[in-house]
Amino acid sequence: MSLAELQELERGSVIPSYVRFPVEFVRGEGTRLWDAEGNEYLDFLCGISVTSLGHCHPRVVEAVRDQVGRLMHVSNLFYTEPAMRLATRLSESSLGGKVYFCNSGAEANEAAIKLARKAKPGGDIIVAYGAFHGRTYGALSATPQESKQAPFAPLVPGFKAIAPESAVLEALVDERTAAVLLEPIQGESGINVLPDEFLRVARKVCDEHGAMLVFDEIQCGMGRTGTVWAYEQTGTVPDAITSAKALGGGLPIGALVTVPAFGEVLQPGDHGSTFAGGPVVAAAALAALEETDSEDLLNRVRKRGASLTEGLARLPHVVAVRGRGLMLACELDVSAPAVMRRALLDERLIVNATGPATLRLLPPLTVSDEEIEDALARLAGSLSTSGS
Ligand code: PLP
Repeated sequence: MSLAELQELERGSVIPSYVRFPVEFVRGEGTRLWDAEGNEYLDFLCGISVTSLGHCHPRVVEAVRDQVGRLMHVSNLFYTEPAMRLATRLSESSLGGKVYFCNSGAEANEAAIKLARKAKPGGDIIVAYGAFHGRTYGALSATPQESKQAPFAPLVPGFKAIAPESAVLEALVDERTAAVLLEPIQGESGINVLPDEFLRVARKVCDEHGAMLVFDEIQCGMGRTGTVWAYEQTGTVPDAITSAKALGGGLPIGALVTVPAFGEVLQPGDHGSTFAGGPVVAAAALAALEETDSEDLLNRVRKRGASLTEGLARLPHVVAVRGRGLMLACELDVSAPAVMRRALLDERLIVNATGPATLRLLPPLTVSDEEIEDALARLAGSLSTSGS
């Protein structure tokens, strides 16, 4: 089927909630993707921080192949080994408490919100401007962006948005606060690293007022910043983290992980999902987590993050580079959406514009030095035709 035919089918049958670029991908391997005409692309976006081990990582593929032919689904009425092993591994890699599985990032945040509300009934949830926590009603209510929220009012009550500043947080958190929910590095709003000092203050005020501190690590977790979890580099340990995206190695799974103290708040009947923690996605996630939790790989993420940062800073029209590890954004003095489009269609490099002047790069954690040089050359090509 041609691209024009696919677009015709989309126009006829698909609710138009996505804006797609005119490319059909048919195959992926490592950092590379191929379109239907056989053209090769460098993928520095990873399906928005999902295929973080590269496309079709052999260990993930093998785990899925092995599981998919034996057992795909039985529901949470019964035991399957991959989910139990994954929960144990996830807990050991992070907060040491318990795990709730779901199918996406938004659902992981829903679970965190429900847990926090059950722990402190009627309590407020405090979130930061610039955050993105998902599109379901609870997660959307926690995402203080007028354009995303306004068409869907009324939202879930009890969410308060603040500027991510210590003094504002100290003034607002009190006995009525159930949770403070934060992305340690805000991804969708353009890779904004929340200051360590702000996170420390969040920890302090949550402790003072018996509120939960929840970190949304859906985009910044799973090795993206050079440690398995982003919080490890901040000096602050939250009460719970949410994970999804790269957790499944390319398949859809989400998880809420708590410290031991919050591991028993949700009880039978409080929450659930038919597909949650199914054996195929859990086997994929276990393989992805084991592959990611390697000092060798994480060291390389930190080194390659530093070299990509330096390379980006040298490019024309780049006025600033920010981020941590391989979660990076550059601020341009030309149109980022135009650069993104040229990079994709002329240079066959996949990056993404998060705003009019902001370009986001989320290459695979397995990216090589040569691929970084190649991507920088392609980006330089798309920037040099930009004119300021
Ligand atoms: N939280 C963060 C930080 C995200 O970046 C995203 C998605 O971009 C979500 C939550 C929502 O995840 P999902 O699209 O899997 O529901």
